[in-house]
Amino acid sequence: MRPKNAQIVEIVRETANVRTIRFDLDLNPVPGQYLMVWVRGVDEVPMSMSYRNGITVQLVGEATRAIFDLKVGESLGLRGPLGNGFSLAGDKILLVGGGVGAAPLALLGKAASKRGMEVTTLLGFRCCDDLLFRERFERIGELIITTDDGSEGICGRASAGLSCLDLQKFDQIYLCGPEPMMADVIGRCRGMETKIQASIDRYFKCGMGICGSCCIDPSGIRLCVEGPVIRADRLAGTEFGKYRRGPSGLKN
Ligand SMILES: Cc1cc2nc3c(=O)[nH]c(=O)nc-3n(C[C@H](O)[C@H](O)[C@H](O)COP(=O)(O)OP(=O)(O)OC[C@H]3O[C@@H](n4cnc5c(N)ncnc54)[C@H](O)[C@@H]3O)c2cc1C
Repeated sequence: MRPKNAQIVEIVRETANVRTIRFDLDLNPVPGQYLMVWVRGVDEVPMSMSYRNGITVQLVGEATRAIFDLKVGESLGLRGPLGNGFSLAGDKILLVGGGVGAAPLALLGKAASKRGMEVTTLLGFRCCDDLLFRERFERIGELIITTDDGSEGICGRASAGLSCLDLQKFDQIYLCGPEPMMADVIGRCRGMETKIQASIDRYFKCGMGICGSCCIDPSGIRLCVEGPVIRADRLAGTEFGKYRRGPSGLKN
């Protein structure tokens, strides 16, 4: 698949190190699908879609720095939307996100609310300055916030907020965020694994299921095409929550 040229029409500063970039293309993604974002001359990196025409980027290294340096009117190359995305099911759903993992959940929550589903969201951040998409989530249902330092909402990790919720009442639980957080939530929801969908982050290179960079040991699930969203029962006995492979294939 050749990259499509996308011109930047809007840049929103969400927090000190997170920005939303909106394009002149409506890509109509399934929530949870991602784009391979080609920053010309720098790298091509995976980013979940946070809007039908946008991504929300956390500054971590070279490619994301280069995205932060772009201005309205400049462009990126986009392959996608790629991958499977979340599958909406049931009447009552719970979204659990950590940090920039809130991005694809915001798009998912909007789609669920449009379908008349009851949406509850639990989001964890390091501190109140890192909060993302508060209004978007409040618009679609109940929002519970946790912060590591207690500066907003419940003090503690996202999983600290689970104790406020009767998990059995949810038909599906959707996760996106740091892997230890997702593994912790899955561990606390024993017996509900077939109702949990997690968006998993690995080192993506081709985005086409060819190179094997994003395979999950020992199942061989190619996250870039069979994921990034995987049902929790398929993660049992895998590397998930234990280790991941870096760009060279070595475990880290
Ligand atoms: C399916 C998927 C969806 C993602 N969605 C988002 C999102 O919505 N917003 C967001 O801010 N980030 C998202 N990421 C993470 C994002 O791809 C990395 O932060 C980005 O690639 C970092 O590139 P860099 O050059 O700035 O950093 P580098 O300095 O190159 O790397 C910093 C860290 O970023 C990760 N990373 C680097 N390159 C890749 C790669 N090709 N594939 C996967 N991880 C990489 C590695 O963990 C690495 O240690 C997503 C990752 C995946 C796999």
